[in-house]
Amino acid sequence: VLSLRGATKRFGGLVAVNDLDFDVAEHEVMGLIGPNGSGKSTTLNLISGALPPTSGGIALRGTPIENLPAQEIARKGVARTFQLVRLLPSMSVLDNVRAGAVFGHRRRWGAEAETHALRMLKLVGLDRRAHAHTGELTYIDTKRVELARVLASDPEVLLLDEWLAGLNPTELEEGIALIRRLRDDGRTIVLVEHVMDAIRSLCDACVVMSSGAKIAEGTPDEVLSDPEVIRAYLGDDDDA
Ligand code: ATP
Ligand code: MG
Repeated sequence: VLSLRGATKRFGGLVAVNDLDFDVAEHEVMGLIGPNGSGKSTTLNLISGALPPTSGGIALRGTPIENLPAQEIARKGVARTFQLVRLLPSMSVLDNVRAGAVFGHRRRWGAEAETHALRMLKLVGLDRRAHAHTGELTYIDTKRVELARVLASDPEVLLLDEWLAGLNPTELEEGIALIRRLRDDGRTIVLVEHVMDAIRSLCDACVVMSSGAKIAEGTPDEVLSDPEVIRAYLGDDDDA
């Protein structure tokens, strides 16, 4: 459903994403992993249209999207969370999630948007807090709101950028269970993650990046036992 061909992003002399190819099949959870600075978030920025690629193609259901503005890509059904949670602080939990429903892929309105938003809040376990102010929430709850907002947009492809980062062990278990539920619902997910337990238990396939390039691809067990991948994680690659 999503494919990258030769996707490349340069920032001046730095090649943040280097000639990257991969495909994500429908209902698949694809782990995009690699050491810090290897280009994972930049790749999500290219897919979501937050940044235009320097070269290369990105297609959603066979249609090129690499030259579209971010809003249009979101409308087409690509939704994402950010490494640093972005909520609208002056709005309630419900209003934040409703915004996802209204401006998302299916553009729901009025009562339907509200019902849908409440359903997504229930899915992430936060329906009790629907009328809370986002400023009152714990960190994990802000992450839940962000996920609910993204889900409310009826995405065809969900991009999660280290959604599990910063959670304590109990929250982490809950978080993994939540993503597993999305997976069991048949969602298509690109999971950028450093938590290896999550990668092993959630991903159908992984792409490993190092210094912007793909260095391995396969099942979690395959790539995590690959010596080149282990070397990259130990910082032993010839990274500049
Ligand atoms: P992390 O695991 O730490 O989140 P990452 O794999 O997401 O890392 P990116 O954020 O994609 O890595 O960064 C890849 C490289 O591109 C890094 O060297 C980073 O400093 C650089 N970079 C990212 N965004 C920009 C930008 N807007 N301008 C200049 N350089 C950037
Ligand atoms: Mg990142």
